Amino acid sequence: MVFHIQIKPDHQYRVELRKIKEPVLEFNSGQMTMILPKAANQDEAVKKHIAWISKVHGNVLYSLQQAEERTLEKRKQADFRQLVWEYAEAYSHELGVDFYKIKFKKLDEKWASCDTRGNLTVNTLLKKLPDELIEFVIFHEIVHRLEMNHGKNFWKLIKQKYPDHKSIDMELFVYWLMVERIAK
Ligand SMILES: [Zn+2]
Repeated sequence: MVFHIQIKPDHQYRVELRKIKEPVLEFNSGQMTMILPKAANQDEAVKKHIAWISKVHGNVLYSLQQAEERTLEKRKQADFRQLVWEYAEAYSHELGVDFYKIKFKKLDEKWASCDTRGNLTVNTLLKKLPDELIEFVIFHEIVHRLEMNHGKNFWKLIKQKYPDHKSIDMELFVYWLMVERIAK
């Protein structure tokens, strides 16, 4: 069950309730979800973990402050497409999988996605990010050719190549906020 909470003035967060003991943050290609332990209802779950939510919100505000110091890349569309193809081909080779095609499109919720037939969809806004973040996003999608879901095996494969993937995910989130503000 996914819902959104609004924290003044303009911050909206994606929240999901699950059968867990402690709240956790989950990142998926730039999208951040607060996973809260199940309660009688949504309001109750939020109320119970309001301190944790405020802490996360504080981290987001800090990230936004940091984002002020980052600059967006001015990459040409053609160069961006080529870069994405290069990473996708290199990683599908490395992981011994294939993919069918890559579609470039403006996405509202994430940096990229991969369906069961191997069609990759890549957010055109990703072209504003540094090379290493584009590489990380494409690697994530190619790993989906081995593991469709974000389960234990999926994260194991990500961790093998990116032991510090959580900090990269946070960095992607910072850029998500930057790009989203520009796109508005
Ligand atoms: Zn994914």
